[in-house]
Amino acid sequence: MKGLPMVDLASQYQKIKGQIDKAIIDVVESTAFINGPEVKAFSDELANYLGVKHVIPCANGTDALQIAMMGLGLKPGDEVITPSFTYVATVEVIALLGLVPVFVDVDPDTFTMDLSALEKAITPKTKAIVPVHLYGQCAEMEGILSIASKHNLAVVEDTAQAIGADYIFKDGKKAKAGTIGDIGTTSFFPSKNLGCYGDGGALFTNNDELATVIRKIANHGQEVRYYHSLVGVNSRLDSIQAAILRVKLPHLDGYNDARRNAADLYDKAFAPYEQISTPKRADYSTHVFHQYTLKLTGVNRDGLIAHLGEHGIPAMLYYPVPVHRQEAYKHLTTDESHLKNTNDLTDVVLSLPMHSELEESTVSFISETLIKFLK
Ligand SMILES: *Cc1c(COP(=O)(O)O)cnc(C)c1O
Repeated sequence: MKGLPMVDLASQYQKIKGQIDKAIIDVVESTAFINGPEVKAFSDELANYLGVKHVIPCANGTDALQIAMMGLGLKPGDEVITPSFTYVATVEVIALLGLVPVFVDVDPDTFTMDLSALEKAITPKTKAIVPVHLYGQCAEMEGILSIASKHNLAVVEDTAQAIGADYIFKDGKKAKAGTIGDIGTTSFFPSKNLGCYGDGGALFTNNDELATVIRKIANHGQEVRYYHSLVGVNSRLDSIQAAILRVKLPHLDGYNDARRNAADLYDKAFAPYEQISTPKRADYSTHVFHQYTLKLTGVNRDGLIAHLGEHGIPAMLYYPVPVHRQEAYKHLTTDESHLKNTNDLTDVVLSLPMHSELEESTVSFISETLIKFLK
């Protein structure tokens, strides 16, 4: 039996194949591979979609985070607060620049930064906060921003998993994930909600000065060619990827709706089973379900994964080891008692197939197969 995919990029491509193929060939024929008009056009269209002043494209989501840290002018030894319950990239760039990652716990229901933990982690050396909109739902940005402004800290939103999600402020106003803090970063890795066909990333900001600095840093620290006022990096979104993203951007809301529909179907199927907690929907954010992640209680997770596997159903652990327990980072945390939720969640989370092409019958097959294991 051919197994199901976690993410079905092939079916998604078939539906837009004509436009995608043409977009790629047009770039090839134009030979404007680097910084071609497609890159500028995509950046403008994404800025318009997000309702943000500046979109600065770059090579991938990890670079976007690194360029954000550099753009804030952080200095070695400065502390940056981030969750440990995230993909390693968030922390990696902090360490790489000689900054000090300070891990805070997450809320056990939303999987995003816990605000009381955040407040406790602030020291005189703290310079920035990097909330991660994990699995496709925003961290509680309004609370984070008020703590940040009280302590004069920069906020960089890691939006790699939540592009297109709406943050809903207490007064009812909405803003797109990644446009709320000082800088937002995202990734166009193929399996992300807005994925290209290779690597890609971007930074967002409403701050003109930051935009100028970020643009320079991503381009070898130059504004005028061969005149380098800053130490920069070479980080570009290539024109073929930009052309692909221009085709896909108008579908993003539809893709996210399809993910939400699939999530609703999963939720309904699992509702009667107390061993399974379905993902909480926060009232301050829409959810774009980059991942559909369950919490299991009293279930043999390894056994369940094997059972699903026997029926051709993949299931993943995002992530099997939290960053503070990784070989490269464990020296940063001598006492991990403040990361209890992170450690506990690592033992109980399970992500099921989730993508824009998931059909109702497939969701039923997956959920029924899972439920059989509980009985
Ligand atoms: C994917 C991801 C990144 C990194 O993106 P790349 O494009 O793979 O470099 C960063 N943070 C989070 C939370 C991610 O999921």
